[in-house]
Amino acid sequence: MTRHVSLLYRGPLSSCNYDCSYCPFAKRHETAAQLQQDRAALERFVDWATAHRESQLSLFFTPWGEALTRRWYQTAVQQLTHRAHIRKIVVQTNLSWATPWLNECRTERLALWCTYHPSEVSRHAFLAACRELRRRGIRHSVGMVARPEDFAEIESLRRLLPASTYLWLNAWDTGDGRKYEYSPQQRDRLTAVDPYFEINTRDYPSAGQDCQTGRSVFSINGDGRVRRCHFVSEDLGNLYAEDWRFPVDSAACPNSTCGCHIGYVHLPVLNLQPVFGSGVLERIPLAYSDHLPASADFQVSGKTYG
Ligand code: SF4
Ligand code: SF4
Repeated sequence: MTRHVSLLYRGPLSSCNYDCSYCPFAKRHETAAQLQQDRAALERFVDWATAHRESQLSLFFTPWGEALTRRWYQTAVQQLTHRAHIRKIVVQTNLSWATPWLNECRTERLALWCTYHPSEVSRHAFLAACRELRRRGIRHSVGMVARPEDFAEIESLRRLLPASTYLWLNAWDTGDGRKYEYSPQQRDRLTAVDPYFEINTRDYPSAGQDCQTGRSVFSINGDGRVRRCHFVSEDLGNLYAEDWRFPVDSAACPNSTCGCHIGYVHLPVLNLQPVFGSGVLERIPLAYSDHLPASADFQVSGKTYG
């Protein structure tokens, strides 16, 4: 049976069109030369993924900043969705771009992890973008940072999204690297929106734990450097080296804790496979993955759309 690996790609891009107060990439601009470097790195990765036939691939773009406003990421996604050995492409995005480029994608192989930033875009506009994804049959999750000042907005978004769209909530990082301490009442309120919210409120002790990263999940940098995950600095090799082969086994986690969905979800001890199934990268739990029926109602600002 052909082996399957998931690759989390993060090139040098580190800029964004949004200005979120909680983000180091807010309104960060890059020079033409820096953007060209990112483009060249991405195109090299696409060439590699296109030619690689030894494994089935799932690819997850996890940029620093926003990638899908850049034409070269749109082109990469278009191309990769047409490769039979690539099961799916997942991208983290703020959904701030126009959608015609999606016409050239095999949309059943595309999934989006969409984050709503209420200081940067109106609820109406964000929901309209979600509605367009739904119309096109593109699987997606929607998420927000659970800052106390946004609780009412979180609840409004939940009310207006289709029940079959998962709205995930990330525990707020208060800026000192620690997660905000929610009161029991706040936890109850947020769990009513996201039944899996509690999972994200913890930093899991991971030192010495078995983790699927390094054997079925890998992090890839723009220069081809391979690591087991985005959070462990040790290099495993270079994707573009002649003799590169994905390892079949991995050592225990060397870090003390793991607190991010894209990391801890690969810890077998947390037993999250039954929760997310094949939607682990795009963060769509099995309980929501039957979404996208064309006839489902979708409400925006009180109006109902078929
Ligand atoms: S949209 Fe994302 S990358 Fe851009 S500023 Fe906001 S949090 Fe940062
Ligand atoms: S537990 Fe987290 S930090 Fe440790 S190897 Fe796995 S993904 Fe990386």
